[in-house]
Amino acid sequence: MSHLDGNVLAGAAADLFAFDVTGAIGQCAVCDDVATLAQTMVYGTKMGFVVRCRNCDAILLVIVEKSTGKYLDMRGLRWMQVAEANQLTQEGAADG
Ligand SMILES: [Zn+2]
Repeated sequence: MSHLDGNVLAGAAADLFAFDVTGAIGQCAVCDDVATLAQTMVYGTKMGFVVRCRNCDAILLVIVEKSTGKYLDMRGLRWMQVAEANQLTQEGAADG
């Protein structure tokens, strides 16, 4: 089976990562709790942030800021749901 290189992800990845993360919904890989990231427990450190599950205290994700860039470890999340940009626009229009 032939494959494409990672450049083909540019469009899809832009949609995934250009959003307000606090509204994204994720599932804890340990206890299956589903919550928005705004509902999690976040601990700030000098190096970045540790995000823990509100239900079981498992680490959901870690953001480390280094001089070379930001590193994101999401292995504590089973999945993350991000609303489509056009859904947010339509919902925003419906609200206003
Ligand atoms: Zn949990």
